[in-house]
Order: sequence, then structure tokens, then C-alpha cells
Amino acid sequence: MSIGQEDNDKENKIMADLIDGKAFAAKIRAEVKEDSDKLISQKQVDPCLAVVLVGENPASKVYVGQKTKMAAECNIKTKDFKLEASTDQETLLKLIDELNNDSSVHGILVQLPLPKQIDERKVIDAIVVEKDVDGFHAINAGRLSIGGDMLKKAFIPCTPLGSLLLLKDHVEDLKGKSAVVIGRSNIVGKPMSQLLIEESCTVTVVHSKTKDIEKVCSQADIIVAAIGRAEMIDSKWLKDGAVVIDVGINRISITKEDGSEGSKIVGDVDFESASEKASKITPVPGGVGPMTIACLLRNTVTSAYRHAGLDDPRSI
Ligand code: NDP
Repeated sequence: MSIGQEDNDKENKIMADLIDGKAFAAKIRAEVKEDSDKLISQKQVDPCLAVVLVGENPASKVYVGQKTKMAAECNIKTKDFKLEASTDQETLLKLIDELNNDSSVHGILVQLPLPKQIDERKVIDAIVVEKDVDGFHAINAGRLSIGGDMLKKAFIPCTPLGSLLLLKDHVEDLKGKSAVVIGRSNIVGKPMSQLLIEESCTVTVVHSKTKDIEKVCSQADIIVAAIGRAEMIDSKWLKDGAVVIDVGINRISITKEDGSEGSKIVGDVDFESASEKASKITPVPGGVGPMTIACLLRNTVTSAYRHAGLDDPRSI
């Protein structure tokens, strides 16, 4: 079979509509810039994000670089702090304390994971809750869990918020839809399930100990996959017409056309197979990833508005 024919066959097979996170994230960043410019001109307040990176994790360095670059494009100032991998907890907590008390800083982001000698939970909960733009602080997690008016005071973790915004843009009415969230981490799975409950979905959370996981997933109108297992979910896991949000970011080894070894990024969903059954699906890359950064910037500007005594510029 010729390469052209193979491509045609592939195209013919894919039926799902693409949920374009890259384009949607660009729209969100344009809104963030608009909100930021308004605050600067009307209140002379420059939204500012402090970004703390401990150590040399290559993926973390890339994420921090992207966050700083996109913040600048949205007229959000950044203060960068790069600490040695050997930094002790006390030194990091002292920096957090300084940033908590710096009135020019509206958001504090500590890039995870942290080196082993540092207790992540201690550091996250040391960030003053009003500057916790990652939404990982226990109080922000509690506000999200309580929902309702409490949600309006919270910062919502960026990846679940980005995933929800994509869903709201692509599913006419979330009310009553059955949603399965695969994964129960504090940064993705749990907050995602709480946001979907808030939208009146009927939510099931599955994880590594779930029995008949494939069967549970195959009954869902909406699947959010946050597992960290490359291409684990294929068409067999899906109900016809399901909407699929793939949060996963996994680097896998590949052999390139010239025979050399390389790698590429894939999601937790086997995109090609899942596209045969799903009605809508996010690609990886270009789906949830760009939304995460856009939502971090959105949370930072929201924080700057709150610090200036103003209402949030946007609601969920
Ligand atoms: P965690 O490792 O913290 O959590 C993974 C979850 O998946 C756990 O709840 C685990 O279950 C569950 N799980 C693991 N293996 C299986 C399995 N075989 N069957 C069912 N469930 C399983 O990961 P994160 O939540 O931090 O991240 C998940 C994915 O999302 C990763 O690929 C990560 O890179 C990506 N990610 C992407 C972001 C983005 O911006 N797009 C941001 C953050 C994460 P159990 O609890 O039982 O162990």
C-alpha cells in the first residue's frame, strides 16, 4: 500500500471532531491580556506571577520557560527564582514567606515535582491562599469540594479548569451527563471530578484498583483520562459518541523513518483508535496542555483583580 493510500485510509477512519485546545487556549490568553491591560490602565496595577523552580528537572524547565514567555505575551510580569536541587525546605519556605509578603506579587507558582528532601504539601500550604494560583492549597481544595459560592472564592487547579472549559465549549449541556474520570490525583483527577459534579454530571472516578474499569468507562458520555499510561484507552473503552478529554502527557520511544531512535509525546488515549468511536476528542499535543498554561495566567490576573478589591474579570 502506498503512503498516500495509507494516509487516506487513516483520514477515512477518523470520525471524531477535534477539540482544538491550542486555538481555544489562544482565545483565553487574548482575554487574559485584555483583562490585564484594563487593570494596568485603570488601577495602575501590574499583574505579577512569581515562578519558583527547584533543581534541574528538564520537563519542569521547559514548562517554566513556556509559562514565563506566555505571561509576558499577556502583559503579566514574572519574577523567576531558580534554586539549586540541594535547596533545603527551610530556605524554600523562607522564600515563600517573602513572596507572601511582597505586595507586588499576585500569584506564586512552585513548579512540581520538588526534590525528595522537601515536603511538597508543607510548601504548597505555606503559600498564602490568596496567591495560590495553582489551586493546590488545602483551603482552595476545600472550597472546590464545597462548591457553590465557595467556588467563587477559590482558585481552581489549572489542568482541570482547562479541561472543563474545553468541555463546556464542546458539549451543549453537561447536566445529567455521565462522566468517568480516570485517575484520582490531587492535581487532576479529584478536582476534575468535583468540577464535573458542580456541573451536575453523574461522576464516577476510577483508578488502578477499579474492577471492570473498561466496562465502567464504556458507559460514559464523557471520559477524562488522567492516568500517565501511554495510549492505554482505545475504542473498546468507549461508548459510541463519547467525548474524550486526554490529559495524559507521556514520552515514548520511536524509530524514525531513517531508522534512528527518537521519542514523541502521546496521551493516555490511543487517538487513532478512540477517534473511531468518540464524537469529540482532544489531541496530544495541542489539547489540554496549552489550556493548563492559559488557565494559570487567567488565575493570576483574577488574583490581581481580587487584590485590587475588584470582582473577578471572568467566571467559569
Ligand atoms: P498521578 O500519577 O498522580 O495519578 C495517576 C492516576 O492514574 C492515579 O490515580 C492512578 O491510580 C491512576 N492509574 C495509574 N495506572 C492506572 C491503570 N492502569 N488503570 C487505572 N488507573 C490507573 O498522575 P497525574 O494526575 O499527576 O497526571 C496524570 C497524567 O496527566 C500524566 O500523564 C501527566 O503527565 C498528565 N498531566 C498533564 C497535564 C497537562 O497540562 N496536560 C498537567 C498534569 C498532569 P492509583 O491512585 O490507584 O495509583
